[in-house]
Amino acid sequence: MRVRFPSLAPMKKVAVVGGGVIGQYISWKLSEAGYDVSVFDYRKKEYLKDKSCSVLVSERIKDFIPITDNIIENTIDYCDINFSRGKTTLQFSPCHLALNKERLMELLLKLNNESGTRFFFETRIRKIPKDFDYIIGCDGADSTIRKLMNLKAPQLKMGVQWFLNQKDESKTTETFLRKNGFTWRIPRGDNIECGFFGESEERGSGMKGALIPSPRFPLINAGLIFSNQDNVVLCGDSMGLTKPWSGGGIIWNLYASDILINNFPNFKKYKKEVIKFFWWKILKGKILNAIVHFLGRYFPYIIPRKIKYDNDFSVAFTSEK
Ligand SMILES: Cc1cc2nc3c(=O)[nH]c(=O)nc-3n(C[C@H](O)[C@H](O)[C@H](O)COP(=O)(O)OP(=O)(O)OC[C@H]3O[C@@H](n4cnc5c(N)ncnc54)[C@H](O)[C@@H]3O)c2cc1C
Repeated sequence: MRVRFPSLAPMKKVAVVGGGVIGQYISWKLSEAGYDVSVFDYRKKEYLKDKSCSVLVSERIKDFIPITDNIIENTIDYCDINFSRGKTTLQFSPCHLALNKERLMELLLKLNNESGTRFFFETRIRKIPKDFDYIIGCDGADSTIRKLMNLKAPQLKMGVQWFLNQKDESKTTETFLRKNGFTWRIPRGDNIECGFFGESEERGSGMKGALIPSPRFPLINAGLIFSNQDNVVLCGDSMGLTKPWSGGGIIWNLYASDILINNFPNFKKYKKEVIKFFWWKILKGKILNAIVHFLGRYFPYIIPRKIKYDNDFSVAFTSEK
């Protein structure tokens, strides 16, 4: 009979740069898998209160993170897309959840604390960290790790939000298409969120109610960029992975995170699998986005009035003329 001794090999050290949703998801999973994980973020721990993401995601998030009811502000079943002339309604399938960012981040912190992840807040990374076996750049759209590797920056677009102090529990979110982006309105239960995604000069006035400008102008990107170093890898907005039609990055990036975790630390396989999983989805999304913008502008009457739609993978099930 063979006797198994516990491994005496030292735990491999992993530095995760960036403690956003994706950094924290990856650090939690790698800590659970037995890695010695440290997360660095230049923000204070209170950054959890930062709302600079709508966190409107499909129910698929529950396949990754154990979302509890207190994190859900509202359930969104429909999305009205307003063209310059006319409108179509998407029935989300699966439905979407407007999550409370602060509580989501608290949950991720708790899961990380329970699995032994170390956090270093108020620590800005300016060089690729040494003394680690692996470095994961989850430092967002304007990634320092990506810049330190002299990689090409992805195309960046502007995302801006503001909030109306007005209760609204309706189940329909609205978007107003503009030339290179859109504005949105999300009923969040206790308040209404409005926002703009696109080129800054296009910020328009298609929204309902008084507008409270946000002091923040975060960036959203669209592309796909990989590390050129053996022990460094990018994931999340730093790699440029967002849905081309909405700029939503959370669900796609959670899929990419699982690919990374399942292949860790084989970064070549990770790259291959990410390309295999996403290339067609990105291309299809870009083509569809261009078609919808064109038809909505010039031939809105061609577009069906109601479409049952998977908003993560742009698949239409049924439509009504
Ligand atoms: C206005 C807006 C609305 C959005 N709404 C949605 C939505 O409804 N649904 C959706 O799916 N997606 C949405 N997105 C996109 C979504 O926010 C991102 O895809 C997602 O947050 C990416 O997570 P991340 O962890 O990769 O990056 P981030 O959340 O940007 O986290 C990066 C972290 O890295 C830290 N950091 C950066 N540089 C350094 C450094 N040098 N050293 C240390 N720390 C560093 C930052 O402080 C930050 O905490 C929205 C984006 C914006 C801007």
